[in-house]
Amino acid sequence: LMGYVGFANLPNQVHRKSVRKGFQFTAMVVGESGLGKSTLINTLFNTTLYSPKEPPHPSAERPKTVAIESIGADIEENGVRLHLTVVDTPGFGDFVNNDDSWKPIVEDIESRFDSYLEQENRVNRLKIVDNRVHACLYFIQPTGHSLKQLDIEFMRRLHTRVNLIPVIAKADTMTDEEIASFKQRILSDIEHHEIHIFQAPTYENEDEETIAEAEEIASKIPFAIVGSNNFVATSDGRKVRGRAYPWGIVEVDNEEHCDFVKLRQMLVRTYMEELREYTNDMLYENWRTEKLVSMGV
Ligand code: GDP
Ligand code: MG
Repeated sequence: LMGYVGFANLPNQVHRKSVRKGFQFTAMVVGESGLGKSTLINTLFNTTLYSPKEPPHPSAERPKTVAIESIGADIEENGVRLHLTVVDTPGFGDFVNNDDSWKPIVEDIESRFDSYLEQENRVNRLKIVDNRVHACLYFIQPTGHSLKQLDIEFMRRLHTRVNLIPVIAKADTMTDEEIASFKQRILSDIEHHEIHIFQAPTYENEDEETIAEAEEIASKIPFAIVGSNNFVATSDGRKVRGRAYPWGIVEVDNEEHCDFVKLRQMLVRTYMEELREYTNDMLYENWRTEKLVSMGV
């Protein structure tokens, strides 16, 4: 179904809970500029969150640190309202020295925890706004080699604070074979450095279909992604979101062509609520405990 994002399944993910007030979800995108972060977000949520930026004023100073920019959208689907926030991190990895690129990002994530904790401590806790980052898409450059020091450093610093979802950017620039071996190397790097990436949870009493779906999604990590907001005509006369090449068209929504569909399934259709729960029950709780211990409480 073209143009259908799929979060309307959220009420099933949370079962009986109230649908009326809607859902808050915050996703962060991190990766060097030009890797397709803005494009992918627009492709995922089928909405233009990012109006193209005005060119910087010629005299404007080049920023020297990673910026944190939040953009929001209210989207509604089948009567389910989702308040989506996307946190972009322009500048990451773009400097001569990127040693501290992770720092402002950790600070941003922790300040969101702080604000949640502060609200929890209020007498009136009915109107808590959850601005915590529920998922972080980390864009890996499609080099075909292995992870860079920058990637490893970022993930090591962040994995205890946020659900990490690594993606291979611009996968249309690699062959299937290159992607397969690149994925293997990325996964072994991740394992070697004991980085925890988000895993879809499996429960013992789950039915076969659900288990198969979870395994199918897990088998695609790190997702090889192609983003595009342009429609192109295929040789058999379909109009699809994709990227046109002299040798043919790479279709965003075709599972034979890339892992976009599986990423969307994980992030939006199946595990959005799990991402929110893990953020609250594990990542936030651990941070809170560390904070209280460090304060000597
Ligand atoms: P950002 O700086 O990470 O936000 O990257 P953008 O989304 O602005 O994209 C940078 C450029 O890469 C644009 O010209 C996009 O059209 C292009 N681009 C985005 N996604 C893809 C992709 O999946 N494959 C290819 N080949 N190009 C892409
Ligand atoms: Mg961008």
